[in-house]
Amino acid sequence: MIIAFDDTDSRNTGMCTTYLGALLFEELQQYGPITDDPLLIRLNPTIPYKTRGNAAVALQIETSKPEEVISHVIGRVENFAQFQDENTNPGVVFIRPEQFESCRTELANFFLETVQQVIPIDRAKEIIARNKIEARGYKNGRGLIGALAACGAVLAGQWDYTYELLAYRQPDNWGTLRRVNEKSIWEADNVTYPETWDNVDVANNMVVCVPHSVDPVLYGIRGKNKDTIRKAANMILGEAIERSLLYRTNQGTDMHLIPASFIEDLQDLHSYTIELKVTTVPHTIEGGHTFFKAADKKDKNIDCAAFEPTKNFRELVRKLIPGDLVILSGSMKDGTLNLEKLEIKRLEPKFELVNPTCPSCGKRMKSAGKNQGYRCRNCKTTASEPEIIEIPRDIEIGIYEVPPCARRHLSMPLIRKEQNSYIHPSR
Ligand code: ATP
Repeated sequence: MIIAFDDTDSRNTGMCTTYLGALLFEELQQYGPITDDPLLIRLNPTIPYKTRGNAAVALQIETSKPEEVISHVIGRVENFAQFQDENTNPGVVFIRPEQFESCRTELANFFLETVQQVIPIDRAKEIIARNKIEARGYKNGRGLIGALAACGAVLAGQWDYTYELLAYRQPDNWGTLRRVNEKSIWEADNVTYPETWDNVDVANNMVVCVPHSVDPVLYGIRGKNKDTIRKAANMILGEAIERSLLYRTNQGTDMHLIPASFIEDLQDLHSYTIELKVTTVPHTIEGGHTFFKAADKKDKNIDCAAFEPTKNFRELVRKLIPGDLVILSGSMKDGTLNLEKLEIKRLEPKFELVNPTCPSCGKRMKSAGKNQGYRCRNCKTTASEPEIIEIPRDIEIGIYEVPPCARRHLSMPLIRKEQNSYIHPSR
């Protein structure tokens, strides 16, 4: 049986759907074996009503006591969900083995759509009713969307994945300052990077695997190899943890990015990869946000932004000039493409006007006065026009990304792509 749930936590009072997943992963084993990796699914990262990372969780159990499993799960959701938060609308979905085949294609598609698009709640409710799926939605039932998508992730079979080990704090410590030895995290990263990633942000000198919110997570270690992840986690020193769980996840896969060709096809609250030509010199406004315009093959322009939290990524963006050919990845919000990755395909040559060189002595001439051309002081030669010289660009062709401190859960770190000189992973 597949068990999936979503939308149990609150930005103000804490909890985390993944914590409930870890608890149930242990408790449900009394009813039979958990038959696959627990799944942590990240959904459309632009959804406004998400608490933090728009996550849903799915577990798979082989059991002869499905009714007991269902009532246990419902009891736990009702105990733990932060119902008092108006933004918390839990959803729980159960799919019995005999329903797997009839639901597989529809729910696998629903999973991808929920990662990339905006789904109305009625759509989830209609799928649940038509397929006679057992489900419980609380309040407006919005959590059913994520829970149903997480079931789809189980049934979808093949998709790119990574892992994350989440370690949870002792309940007495929830809401207090986290006590983690930062040096041990840098050491763990040093030993296990690049098989684990996003533990630290080297360029910005900060630890990024320890959250600052009120949730029960102490730290999360991401990577592709389970043993290396566990090795890193074992090296981290700090307050005692209550439990931990290693999730399989669609984090770090770029699953949210929709390939697009034309700006007219881009919609708010969706994320895209699109090839464009830079059309304005990037400018930075107060607060540090950097903007430029870029056009598609129909010469339609769009505003592109690298916001302040993307830190050193903005320095790269500021080096773009009109004419550069780029492939941009990011989310559409208020008609602006918020960048998370930037591939430079072709660099426009950059020219500068300089005083002409003297044909006799080879030195640069001086201005002879406003609108009076140029003159060599030594040789008295003159020239009316400045010289145009090509100056080297201080960026290279290649793929660049925002630093780990600004990375979206779903964004694929470049370190996951094949290593070659064309790629510039940010550390
Ligand atoms: P939690 O840790 O509790 O999962 P979160 O940051 O993941 O917190 P939620 O509290 O789950 O956020 O809120 C996200 C809500 O948005 C859920 O109700 C989920 O079902 C819904 N949702 C997720 N993806 C989509 C989508 N593509 N379209 C519409 N609703 C969505």
